[in-house]
Amino acid sequence: MFLIFGNPVSHSKSPLMHNYFFKKEEINECYGRYCLEDGSKIIEKFKELKIKGANVTVPHKEWAYKLADEVRGIAKEIGAVNTLVKEGEKIIGYNTDALGFLEAIKEFEYKKPLIIGAGGTAKALSLVLPESDILNRSKNRLEYFKKKAKNTFTWDDIDKFDYDLIINTTSAGLNDENLPAPEEIINKLFSNAKYAVDVIYGKETPFLKKAKEFNLKIKSGLDMLVYQGVLAMELFLGKKLEREKVAKLYFEILR
Ligand code: NDP
Repeated sequence: MFLIFGNPVSHSKSPLMHNYFFKKEEINECYGRYCLEDGSKIIEKFKELKIKGANVTVPHKEWAYKLADEVRGIAKEIGAVNTLVKEGEKIIGYNTDALGFLEAIKEFEYKKPLIIGAGGTAKALSLVLPESDILNRSKNRLEYFKKKAKNTFTWDDIDKFDYDLIINTTSAGLNDENLPAPEEIINKLFSNAKYAVDVIYGKETPFLKKAKEFNLKIKSGLDMLVYQGVLAMELFLGKKLEREKVAKLYFEILR
């Protein structure tokens, strides 16, 4: 038995994806959801429910990071865990969000990425895209990236537009029709770019609509969601999977 912890968690697509995989692969397992109010109880609940593994979504990823018996891989740098796996008596924490993102864009041949936004997702992606610069609406959140010796810009002082990959990690476009930066900035960026990626899924954002007008190759948050799920399934089953085959199944049920 596997499940996803979150609050809210009713919107999560993970049960749909992973149960479809179990069914298609004839694996006698199931994947549920658990609305957890108090994140500090996450490991206690994991043990109580006697599950083999879990995904963790907002707002409990930091709790999972703090409380897992051991944290492995990039999750240590990110400071957030989205996958928990039982290994013997221990519960091990991993993060497949950022690596899932990389897997989703593996066919893109980029040299210089620009990340728009400076929140949790931007932090995680900047770790797997060390060559990236950061653009954010306001200054405060840029401090973290400056300390990491990153080039950072706000809308007022951006003077570089020669990026080939532009990534939106803001929530602009999620519940509104906003672009993640003023239109003239996005137009200048897209004139020189080859690729655009949005981490939002479930709708075509104004950012991706515009990228299409500029004939850029695009990926949406759905690609990131699918590949973080594929990597989580590898950890759950403790073996390498044919990633493209599994991703195809996940896309099939989600689209
Ligand atoms: P945070 O709240 O940590 O950060 C939000 C960032 O967005 C800040 O930099 C903020 O700028 C900026 N922002 C918010 N609104 C606007 C706007 N209207 N215009 C420009 N900038 C704006 O968010 P997260 O990093 O946790 O999440 C961001 C998005 O990523 C969400 O939409 C979430 O759904 C998505 N996501 C998708 C995943 C997937 O698997 N596809 C996985 C994880 C997240 P400022 O500092 O100026 O306030």
